Amino acid sequence: MAVAKSGTKTVKCPVCKGKGRQTVRATEVTVQGERELDPVEIDCIWCHGKGALTPEEYREYLEVTDMWCECEEPGEAIFHPDGESDFCRKHHWTCSKCGKITQVG
Ligand SMILES: [Zn+2]
Ligand SMILES: [Zn+2]
Repeated sequence: MAVAKSGTKTVKCPVCKGKGRQTVRATEVTVQGERELDPVEIDCIWCHGKGALTPEEYREYLEVTDMWCECEEPGEAIFHPDGESDFCRKHHWTCSKCGKITQVG
């Protein structure tokens, strides 16, 4: 019976669904109002283009996805450097209203 080596198993990246790329949408605010810019394809920020996450990266993803700010009008962005916080070791910004993450990396 084959025994899986622990620690080497990777998880298909749930963000890009294993493609290694993700599409980012952006809007530009002009005097005429809001305009949607063409979507940009970038290397997935979670798996860095690998299409898979290590168990540790996946755990971090699960913890962080619960932490996104959903305020309609987020408060002031508060910067947290690498390693400061337990739930997200990458540097990130949080919303001053709800304390949740507004941007990572
Ligand atoms: Zn990915
Ligand atoms: Zn918020």
